[in-house]
This record gives sequence, C-alpha cells and structure tokens, in this order.
Amino acid sequence: VSSVYAAPGQRGSIADYRPRYGHYIGGEWVEPVKGQYFENISPVNGKPFTEVARGTSEDIDRAVDAAWKAFESWKKTSTTERANLLNKIADRIEQNLEKIAVAETWDNGKPVRETLAADIPLTVDHFRYFAGVLRAQEGGISQIDENTVAYHFHEPLGVVAQIIPWNFPILMAAWKLAPALAAGNCVVIKPAEQTPASLLFLFEIIGDLIPAGVVNIVNGFGIEAGAPLAQHKRIRKVAFTGETTTGRLIMQYASQNLIPVTLELGGKSPNLFFEDVATRDDGFYDKALEGFTLFALNQGEVCTCPSRALIQRSIYDQFLGDGLQRVSKIIQGNPLDPNTMIGAQASNDQLEKILSYIQIGQEGGAKLLTGGERVDLGGDLSGGFYVAPTVFEGTNDMRIFQEEIFGPVVSVTSFDDFDDAISIANDTLYGLGAGVWSRNIDTAYRAGRAIEAGRVWTNTYHQYPAHAAFGGYKQSGIGRENHAQMLDHYQQTKNLLVSYAEGAM
Ligand code: NAD
Repeated sequence: VSSVYAAPGQRGSIADYRPRYGHYIGGEWVEPVKGQYFENISPVNGKPFTEVARGTSEDIDRAVDAAWKAFESWKKTSTTERANLLNKIADRIEQNLEKIAVAETWDNGKPVRETLAADIPLTVDHFRYFAGVLRAQEGGISQIDENTVAYHFHEPLGVVAQIIPWNFPILMAAWKLAPALAAGNCVVIKPAEQTPASLLFLFEIIGDLIPAGVVNIVNGFGIEAGAPLAQHKRIRKVAFTGETTTGRLIMQYASQNLIPVTLELGGKSPNLFFEDVATRDDGFYDKALEGFTLFALNQGEVCTCPSRALIQRSIYDQFLGDGLQRVSKIIQGNPLDPNTMIGAQASNDQLEKILSYIQIGQEGGAKLLTGGERVDLGGDLSGGFYVAPTVFEGTNDMRIFQEEIFGPVVSVTSFDDFDDAISIANDTLYGLGAGVWSRNIDTAYRAGRAIEAGRVWTNTYHQYPAHAAFGGYKQSGIGRENHAQMLDHYQQTKNLLVSYAEGAM
C-alpha cells in the first residue's frame, strides 16, 4: 500500500499497532481470563494486522469490579477536575491527530480524508464541548413554603455499560465516553469486534491521563462479551449504538435489572429535493447535488445515510442526470491516499451484505443506474472490501427502500407535491435522519416539522456538531446523544427536601 500515510514513522502507520491487544481494565493491559484472541482484519487490504482479546463474562466481571472501585474516588471529583481532564484528553488527541486518524483508517477502511477532517477533530471537539457544558450545568431549587426548600442535585449513575458499532469506532466511543465521564460515571465499554483496534490504539495514547478503572475496555463478540455486559447485575445503565434488532435485545437485558437504556439504532433516511432547487444553475443547485451524493460518505456506513432520494417529478430527469454526473466524480481508491473520497467497507460480511442487497434490488424490479459491483483496486489492495457507489431507481415499497443496507447505495424515486413527499418520507419503520432541500423557507420549514425523524437537515446534510441533539424517532432509538441534554441521560436527580422551620412541621 503506497502512500505518505503508509510508511512507519511520524504520520502513523499500521506498524504503530501492537501485534496483540488484551483488555484495558483498571488502567492496565490485561490478558483475557480464558486466554483467547481473535484476528483483526484491515478492510484496506483484507489482511489481519493485529490480534485482540476475545472477552467473556469473566472479563466483564473484572472490568465492572475495577469500575466500581474507581467510582469511590471518581464520584468525589469536582466538576472542574473532570472538565480539566476532558480538556486534557482533547489536547492529547489533537496532538496525535494524524496518527490516530491513520490508525482509524487502517482499522475501519474509511479514507484518511475523512478521519483527518471529521472523525478525529469531531472527537476532540466532543470532549471539549462536554468539559464546557459540565461547568455551565446548574441544579434547581424550589421554594415549597416560607421555611421549606427542595434542592435538586445532579448525581452520577455509577458504573455504566457502553456498546458501540464499527462505522465510527473512535467517534462513537467519544460520543458516549465524554458525557458519561463529565457526569461523574465510570465506564465499561465494548468496541465492535470488526473494529476494536483503533480505540485500543487511542487508549495507548490517552490512557495515562485517566484515573485507573474510570474507563475499562473489554473486547469481544456481541453474544460472548456484549450480552454479559448489558445484563450485568451491577451496571446502572446501558448505552448502545447498533442495529435495531440488537437494540431490542439490549432493552430486554436492561429490563432484568430495571435500568435505563439509550439506543441509537438504524435508519433509512429520506433526502427530499423540491423543484425550486433547480430553478437556477447556481451555487445552491450545486450544493443540493452534492447533498445527493452524500449517500456515499463513509461508504454509506452511516446510520443517517441519505439512502432514499426523493426528487420532485417536475425536475426528476434533470436533477437525477446531474446527480449521476456528480456520482461519477466520486474518487474511490486507496483509503490512505488523501485524495480518496470513498474507501473500503468495514468488513467482508458487510461487503457481502451490500452485494446481496444489490441483487435484491435488481430482482425486486429496481433499475440499476450506476455501480452495483465490487471494485478490485489491484495490487496490495486487491483483497480489500470496496464497493462502487450505486444508484437504483424504484418505488418506496421495494426492499431496498425499506431495509437498511449500510453501504454506498441510494434508492431514488419521485414525488408529485408536498404531501406526497412527506407521505413517502414517513413511510418507513425508521426515523433517524432526513434532508430537505428547498429555496423556499416555508416549504423547508413545513417539511422539516412534518418528517418523523430526530434530525432533519435543511439545505445541508451530514453535519454532526456536539451541540445539536441527535437521536431517533420510531424504531431508530430512544434518547439523544450530543448536546447538553445528554448529561441528563447519565445523571439522576437527588432531591433534598429541607425544613428550616424551628417549630413543629
Ligand atoms: P450490531 O448491533 O451488530 O453491533 C453493535 C454492537 O453490539 C457491537 O459491539 C456488537 O458486538 C454488539 N452486540 C451484538 N449483539 C449483541 C448482543 N446480543 N448483546 C450485546 N451486544 C451485542 O450493529 P453493527 O452492525 O455493528 O452496526 C451497524 C448498525 O449501527 C446499523 O444498523 C446502524 O444504523 C447503527 N448505527 C446507529 C447509529 C445511531 O446513532 N443511531 C450510529 C451508528 C450506527
């Protein structure tokens, strides 16, 4: 693999990874209790590059013990101390940004163009945001009567479990770790088995900043390590990001202990293009076309992937034609090359799943307009998991419009008018993201309010600032991430009801 990012040294490379990783428990790297490891494969070339501990319930027990032990002192830290720690983590990540970005690319297959500009900078910003938000958080006082006061204090939950997916391994960890730590909790986190290595790599860099046991990482598979973690009797919350089917299981597990869950699940996000976008061939039209191509961002492995494009019939042919032109300009290639816009799918299983959906689309009567195949980049990259950006035309009742593919595949259809657009947009089990494109603020506002989704981007897409609430309607999840309101998900309210009366009550 040739690139400035491929050679060992300053810029980070695959050689910076250790050949083998244990779990990270109580501030130390430890062997798995059962002594088993699994191979971690890079999607860039399809080859194994490190081994990772294969955790079981015994490792989870150990990590939960370490976390409760750490909680004894962590819960007494001041908000300033915790905010300072989050800022130090952010600084350390920023100082090592290139290295971490390259490590993420090797583990996940996404291009360095993205990890350098989005995944890692957003991670840095996330820690800084929660450092700030924490210090601005206030409690509340209710005056019950002249001599009686109710004080409301924020208290941490204790030890919380976090289970994350493989599409944004470091950023998804940051989304969960920053608010949990800010709120004063200790954490046991399980990365996805497809991409555990970059988070482990990150903890080699930031681990020494965090008091031992405050964050513990147990690696392994969903059933072997994730399920015992989510069912553990001594955890106080489960935060999960992943598939809707797994989300249902997580809720069942959590119900055994009656603990809260936050779930960030799947999506089938509609991207609506109203006819006025094409009234002029100007910068706005160009921006809307770019918005159409964003189904391929992160290889389509984004829960909010705009995987359904809805184009008003009056501009359908023109807009789709221009959109396909733009799709043909997406540069697919070596993820380590800074010019590459679309890299490799995160795993061979995911590659197979996408290819099977492409077949389902064709068999279901959809028209394949471009792409639709695995791409062989040749040389060292031949074994990598590359799929060409793919555009289908069809109708919203087809499986490729209803089921999450999680690949660079968009299903395009047309609508007649506003009501038709909203009805197609909402004809889905999901409600995570949506896009609305219009020059008319009235249309844009009304569409934004009418779409049943937790995040509706208007005349933009795929922006993820830390201070905007993110989460799903319908079967896309429960709770929100990002934004100050996230602290509520990691805290409980202590009410002290105090009488200052000298005499009888
Ligand atoms: P997944 O549900 O298969 O796995 C996610 C995590 O759950 C992994 O760590 C896995 O090991 C673990 N897991 C699997 N089975 C488990 C079980 N029975 N008990 C406990 N843990 C278990 O999902 P995935 O395929 O890794 O991720 C892709 C999915 O994530 C997509 O559906 C995508 O839409 C969703 N996603 C959602 C968001 C969001 O914010 N809403 C963000 C990113 C990804």
